[in-house]
Amino acid sequence: MSDVSRIDDSEAPIVIIGAGPAGLTAAYQLGKHDRRPLVIEADDVVGGISRTVVRDGWRFDIGGHRFFTKVPPVSDLWHEVLPDEDFLTRPRMSRIFYNGKFYDYPLKPTNALRNLGLIESIRCVMSYMWVRVRPPKDQSTFEGYTAARVGWRLYRIFFKTYTEKVWGVPADQIQADWAAQRIKNLNLFSAVWNALMPKRNQKDIASLIEEFEYPRHGPGMMWERCSELVQAQGGRILMNNRVVGIEHEGGRAKVVITESDQGTRRIDCSQLVSSMPIPRLVQAMIPSPPEEVLTAAKGLSFRDFLTVALVVPEDEAFPDNWIYVHSADVKLGRIQNFGAWSPEMIPERSMTCLGLEYFVTEGDDLWTADDVDLIQLGIRELKTLGLLDPSHIGEGYVVRMPKAYPMYDSCYKENVDILRGWLSQNATNVHPIGRNGMHRYNNQDHSMYTAMLTVDNMVSGTSHDVWQVNVDAEYHEELSRSEL
Ligand SMILES: Cc1cc2nc3c(=O)[nH]c(=O)nc-3n(C[C@H](O)[C@H](O)[C@H](O)COP(=O)(O)OP(=O)(O)OC[C@H]3O[C@@H](n4cnc5c(N)ncnc54)[C@H](O)[C@@H]3O)c2cc1C
Repeated sequence: MSDVSRIDDSEAPIVIIGAGPAGLTAAYQLGKHDRRPLVIEADDVVGGISRTVVRDGWRFDIGGHRFFTKVPPVSDLWHEVLPDEDFLTRPRMSRIFYNGKFYDYPLKPTNALRNLGLIESIRCVMSYMWVRVRPPKDQSTFEGYTAARVGWRLYRIFFKTYTEKVWGVPADQIQADWAAQRIKNLNLFSAVWNALMPKRNQKDIASLIEEFEYPRHGPGMMWERCSELVQAQGGRILMNNRVVGIEHEGGRAKVVITESDQGTRRIDCSQLVSSMPIPRLVQAMIPSPPEEVLTAAKGLSFRDFLTVALVVPEDEAFPDNWIYVHSADVKLGRIQNFGAWSPEMIPERSMTCLGLEYFVTEGDDLWTADDVDLIQLGIRELKTLGLLDPSHIGEGYVVRMPKAYPMYDSCYKENVDILRGWLSQNATNVHPIGRNGMHRYNNQDHSMYTAMLTVDNMVSGTSHDVWQVNVDAEYHEELSRSEL
């Protein structure tokens, strides 16, 4: 990576905060217009949440990262960065593990019916008919929104427990926006109808749900390559430097202050493109914004993520890419099988690596537990579920990812609007992009698209509204949760 001593532009550079998908996309796009941006990254690896972690040769994602998009410029960019031979087209298999049984996911009525049994199925259908007659009063929450579409009984079996594990709060405290973004058009009637319809009528949806693209060494491969391209264009990437301050004056950000093991740096900027969490961006402003803006920043929260990766014999693991664990008697929420994502993630034939995923809050008991204890917890929970013989489990690794999910609580929108409003008045050359950068539940494609449109605005004078990305978009995963 570039050394800071080379920062000697006569004119202040465009500074980009974060070398995740959004930041690197912005840098790469700027490079195409002969701009030489400076990317500042707090961590020692690129890719942000879309990195690939490597431990003793085992490769794993922060959650599995499928590459799918309905935004053609994004898919073009993926294929521009990585040659076709680096992409695998993977069959998707995912199921829900509930009460000792596997349910196909996305849900298939015949399979669900068989597993639930006749009596429970009748109860579910009656419960669905009941919500048609008497819909939940408050459909602004995840609970009301989802129950209105599948009935209370199916909601409790297939949505409530898992969702509460993810967010760590009751589902009636989560906004429907999250459900609406992830499971748009969810409706039991159309689910049954789609399942019975001939496949050709659902070709577009089915092909995206049933297979996806994946870089053979994991998503990090895309971002490692992209960072090489950025540097080949003349852009610079300053790793291990955390942005802690932004001096602004006369309505513009002027200086970015970073901290690293080497100390504090002051870097002039002409424009600032930021994928760091928007509340932290605003809190870093010098002079500080008024109290109500700081209160709004404080009001935005996140959910954090922890993976316990366990090496196990391949023939003892399940064939799925991942399974959702809905049982309330274990803390883990989902299990990835990284060997099923790409055989090249696995250094030893006959073995695979499972990623046990825990949704946590920075500083809580799981977050602060010793790795050894977390590995033991993972092994115990696999035993409780009856999924694997614990005596056959090999190495274990723990990876923590702070701020994996921007929280959609009842005031998040209002808080984001306050921060946006303040930035648009007081720091007109600051451009928030990406996922946490906009506090928006964006996947890679939408995170990247906000960066692409921002660069377009900067270099071509267009006026795309990046805040509309992932608001009006149609979703192919109508019955699914794309990353959950
Ligand atoms: C469990 C899980 C599964 C997912 N699955 C998928 C999937 O299947 N497909 C998909 O497309 N997307 C998926 N996503 C979403 C995807 O990870 C994100 O959309 C994407 O990584 C967001 O990119 P970004 O650049 O906006 O942010 P990030 O990836 O968060 O990158 C931001 C970067 O900024 C850096 N940074 C933050 N603060 C500072 C600071 N103060 N100074 C300097 N640097 C800073 C961070 O270290 C980080 O590298 C998933 C996410 C999760 C949590």
